[in-house]
Amino acid sequence: MTEENKNIHDFDFDLISDYFSQFERQGPGSPEVTIKAISFVDNLSPTSKIADIGSGTGGQTMVLAQHVPGQITAIDLFPKFIDKLNALATQLNLQDRIKGIQGSMENLPFQEEELDLIWSEGAIYNIGFEKGLKEWKKFLKIGGYIAVTEASWFTDRRPKEIQDFWDMAYPEIDMIPKKVAQLQNAGYIPVAVFILPENCWTDNYYVPQAKIIEDFLNKHKGNPTAEGLIAEIKKEIRFYSQYKEYYGYVFYIGRKI
Ligand code: SAM
Repeated sequence: MTEENKNIHDFDFDLISDYFSQFERQGPGSPEVTIKAISFVDNLSPTSKIADIGSGTGGQTMVLAQHVPGQITAIDLFPKFIDKLNALATQLNLQDRIKGIQGSMENLPFQEEELDLIWSEGAIYNIGFEKGLKEWKKFLKIGGYIAVTEASWFTDRRPKEIQDFWDMAYPEIDMIPKKVAQLQNAGYIPVAVFILPENCWTDNYYVPQAKIIEDFLNKHKGNPTAEGLIAEIKKEIRFYSQYKEYYGYVFYIGRKI
């Protein structure tokens, strides 16, 4: 595509993927939490097939490859993230175990009952938790595992400001027992559920961003997309520090029956 026929959307897409591809992760998480979630998954072998959906630049993909056997296909919508992921896999000498491909979680390139494990950190919300659990299930073998993180409420009441924010951002956010029931109703045995600790949001997600926000704004001075993006991120950071006892990310791990 030439510069001339790029519309504003392509430009936004580039700017946003440029911004986020600077970081190891594009969502809350940590190697320790990925390893803890792995501890609930059994029966993997070198011939196992694993999908990491909405992989971003592959922070958790590398941890997965270093802690479980099997072949991993990582999928993300953003080609720039996938390029970085494949480069990282080569750097770590994991290129024979990890294949990053650009694609959509709405149209996955797998056969029915091909996969032993579906992994998705901070990404299933793009298709919707319930819809993703139901649609992706056909790709899993019976007894295969799904492990996803999902924004969840911790309390049944919360201040209006944070309720309004999430109603706009992701109305499917809900309390943990409701999400567990959705996991069960989608045809999985709930195997484990745990809340991601605070450092997954702070040290591993917001702190690296806070360090470069001003440089990014200077570089893109007067650009409404860049200014809008940073204003949103600053609002998210403020909301998390103010309201973190009301919401967070939760790992939901299930086994297909
Ligand atoms: N898993 C990574 C992590 O935890 O660092 C990335 C999480 S980030 C919050 C969500 C990811 O989902 C982004 O990399 C985004 O490009 C990807 N994504 C959004 N919509 C998608 C879709 N329809 N298909 C595949 N990936 C998608």
